Formats: sequence, C-alpha cells, structure tokens
Amino acid sequence: MKKHNFSAGPCVLPQEVLEQASQAVLNFNNLDLSLIEISHRSKDFIAVMDKAQALAKELLDVPEGYSVLFLQGGASTQFLMTVMNLLKKDGKGAYISTGSWSKKAITEGKKFGAIDVIASSEDKNFNYIPKDYSCPEDADYLHFTSNNTIFGTQFHEFPEVSEGTVLASDMSSDIFSRKIDVSKFGLIYAGAQKNMGPAGTTLVIVKDEILNQTGRDIPTMLNYKTHISKESMFNTPPVFAVYVSMLTLDWLKKNGGVEAIEKVNTAKAELLYAEIDRNPLFEGVAAVEDRSKMNVTFVLTDDSKQEAFDKLWNNAGVSGLKGHRSVGGYRASIYNALPLESVQVLVNTMKELEKLS
Ligand SMILES: *Cc1c(COP(=O)(O)O)cnc(C)c1O
Repeated sequence: MKKHNFSAGPCVLPQEVLEQASQAVLNFNNLDLSLIEISHRSKDFIAVMDKAQALAKELLDVPEGYSVLFLQGGASTQFLMTVMNLLKKDGKGAYISTGSWSKKAITEGKKFGAIDVIASSEDKNFNYIPKDYSCPEDADYLHFTSNNTIFGTQFHEFPEVSEGTVLASDMSSDIFSRKIDVSKFGLIYAGAQKNMGPAGTTLVIVKDEILNQTGRDIPTMLNYKTHISKESMFNTPPVFAVYVSMLTLDWLKKNGGVEAIEKVNTAKAELLYAEIDRNPLFEGVAAVEDRSKMNVTFVLTDDSKQEAFDKLWNNAGVSGLKGHRSVGGYRASIYNALPLESVQVLVNTMKELEKLS
C-alpha cells in the first residue's frame, strides 16, 4: 500500500497524476513515442505548455497584463532573477527575513546591489512572522517568503507596499493552496516540487509593466523578458516537469480549484494542530497565530518517548515526518495532494502514544 507521504519536498502528488504521467512516458497521446523523446516544439508538447499556463492563470485568477512562465533552475535561481530584474541601478531592495529560504534570497540580493532587511524573526529561530515594520517608500521592491517550509510559519496577511514598490513573493510551498489576490503582486515564483508537480520547473507569474525598468543589461537566460517573448520556450523546457505540473493543476481544477482545496487544507491543518494542542505529549513550534497550513512543525514534550513514537508512525505507514535539522522534532507537510485520511492516520498514532504512556 502507498505510504502516507508527509515529505516537505519533493512531495506527494495525486495518485492518478502519477499513473497518467507513467503512461505518457511510455506512449504519449497515442503517438507511439514517449513524452520525453519528442520535440518540445511539436504541436503535442506546445499544447501541454499552453494548457499548463492557462490552468495556472485560471486557478489563480491571474489578471490581464501578467505573464505565466515555467522556468528551470529552481526557486533558488529566482532569488537572483528577482534582484536582477527588479532592482534599479542605484536602487534599493527590501526583504523580510523569515527563515532559511528568505535568508538565501537576501544573500543573493546582497551580492548584486543595495538590500535592506526591514524585518526579521531570526531572534526566535524564525518561529513567528514579524508584524511591526513598514516598507521604505523608495524601495524598488519588497521580497518575502509567503510560507516558511522549514520553520512552519506562514503569512496570513501580506505586507503592504506603496505604489512605486513592487511586491515580490517566494510562494514555493503554498502556491495553489489558498486564494490570493495576484493583482497585489508584481512577481510570484514557486518551485514546482512543493505543491504543484515534480522538481525541475519553477512557476513564475510576473506583471509585464514592471519589467525593463532597471536600466541594466540583464543576461539573456536570467531576463524574464526573454522567456516571456518565447513563451517559456527560449531554450528546451523541462518537458516532463511541465507535463506533470499540468496534470496536477488539471486534477486541482477537477476537484473544485483553489477555493475547494483551501477548505480541505484548513480542515487538515485544524485536525493536526488540535491534536498537538490537546495531547500533553506534543507541542507546536511556531507561534499560534502564524502557524502554517502546509508545514506543521512540532516536538515531543518528553524526549524519552521518541523511539516509541517513531515506531508507531512508521508502522502506520507514515513517511517523511522527520523535522529539518535546523528545527529538530517533527514536520508534517500536508500539501494539496495529501488526503485528509493521511492526517487522521498520523493523529491516531499521536493518540496511541498517549495511551501507551
Ligand atoms: C524548497 C524551497 C525553495 C528552494 O527551491 P529549489 O527549487 O530547490 O531551488 C525556495 N523557497 C521555498 C519557500 C522553498 O520551500
């Protein structure tokens, strides 16, 4: 039987998507050819890319004037592309530091230009989202990480910026998990492997009018304009990753879209947090008001129970529960494709541990 996969990423995908993807690797569209051995410029693959873009636009209600791209290099390359494409010559970028991924974005930014960290939660090992800050009016852009995959915190309200400042967000681990107002953002990016598909592609949603404003010559592959003008086909796109992402987005649409999955995600998170709060053997890591609905971090209140608990969840077919080394304890990643039943199985093992004690 398939495991209950709580992996933080790459992570669980819908079973029917895995089956369709397997079939396409063997024989795609009855072409008697594999998806991964045909030209990306064939009409069959162009249809896949078009559908992936259209689904992303539809599911997130992306307004006119935005481009949707499927790029390579992971979210990590976006740390660099953000600053290259948004920071004006002699301009300034603002960042909110809420975890390891934000810090990496800041490191890349600093290599390139003037970067201001306007708020940080590092003083408490990133267990909360900073709230008392304001973005300087002269910042070209404000970058933040909407969901902190490692620490288990999430922005439930997005930062405010003045009119001249572009709001930019790394949404790798919560894209398509909840409704967002894309019109508030100039740039959104997300590595596929957390909530959209397999590793190998990165979704970028960018407002066209914010580009070409920096006054610098951006290297071709790192310039969003290049990829917009070639519809994500400037160079060979990651065909398999785009195809499986398209299937996953199609699955999401068939299941009621973002609004419907948001309700399920809330139910899953409430079920698990309720047990963490009720059961005296467990304790949440993140500040209650900033808890993530995607990555639930928790620890045992009595370390001597670790062996018993690990045995219980392993025997129940739960996988991928180990916390990140910088936090310790446990992390249950409960992305879109993880069924409510899997969360129930985990909660049952927590109750089981209490009974044994
Ligand atoms: C996983 C993750 C990344 C890194 O993504 P790569 O595709 O491996 O570069 C960046 N940001 C967040 C929020 C993540 O969860």
